[in-house]
Amino acid sequence: MLGPIANKDYVLKYLNIYDTHALKKYGQNFLIDDELAESIVSKVKDDKDSIILEIGPGLGALTYHLVKKEGHKVLVEIDPLMCDHLKHQIQENDIEILNMDFLRMNLKKYDKEIVVVGNLPYYITTDIIEKLLLANNVTQMTLMVQKEAYERLTAPISSKEYSPISIFLEYVGGTKILSKVSRHSYIPEPHVDSLVFQVNVKKEKQIENESAFFKITKAMFLMRRKTILNNLTSYLKDKQKAETILNELSCPLTARPEQLNLDFYLKLTKEILKCR
Ligand code: SAM
Repeated sequence: MLGPIANKDYVLKYLNIYDTHALKKYGQNFLIDDELAESIVSKVKDDKDSIILEIGPGLGALTYHLVKKEGHKVLVEIDPLMCDHLKHQIQENDIEILNMDFLRMNLKKYDKEIVVVGNLPYYITTDIIEKLLLANNVTQMTLMVQKEAYERLTAPISSKEYSPISIFLEYVGGTKILSKVSRHSYIPEPHVDSLVFQVNVKKEKQIENESAFFKITKAMFLMRRKTILNNLTSYLKDKQKAETILNELSCPLTARPEQLNLDFYLKLTKEILKCR
């Protein structure tokens, strides 16, 4: 791959050659800071037995550094023009380029562990992270997102934005901010700054049935304004049973879903599974 790519001249040159512009509908903000691109990729786990998956490679700002890493790489990009560009630029043969919507991708088809990297399209940041958290073969994520999105995703307990994703992120081991990124590092320039964070998914499971934990926790937030008792009752379709379980867990019946911590949701899941 000829590069480096994360610079203004390269991005403007190719958008001009293709007679196009950054597409808002795909959340395209191209990185123009190659030092940053290199430093992000340097934090991606080196493990030749894992697959490295890049979400939204675009013109290849991160890909340029990623191709030098060992192991099989998969690039998933929704814009066919970007995919054609990458196919022309990439000579390495351990790289698969998929022209598709990441949200439709079947991550289970890979029997290897997956290490994920990406400068995410802002319009589906939350959906992408939720999908990665629910997949059980993702071991690391190194992601660039808008600062506001990060604050929402990692909102603390009792805050308005606290959500099942905040709980799942805590469950997998929490997040670590790697760098703050100015809005001037992109073309076109977004209205807000971004940051890069990493998640290293813990190996030890705190609960056997993780998918039940994710499902139940999400169900408890379906009616955010209602109490945990309301949510649990509608999930179990049995108010008496819901009350018994909450009493068992010494949880006030009037508590709201955003006032309850990870430990509570783990215990709640175990209690519900016990009753089945
Ligand atoms: N990685 C490039 C960079 O850093 O310059 C581009 C990042 S840009 C913020 C997001 C990229 O994700 C774009 O290339 C966009 O076309 C792609 N994209 C948007 N929606 C997508 C989706 N649902 N699935 C896969 N790629 C998507």
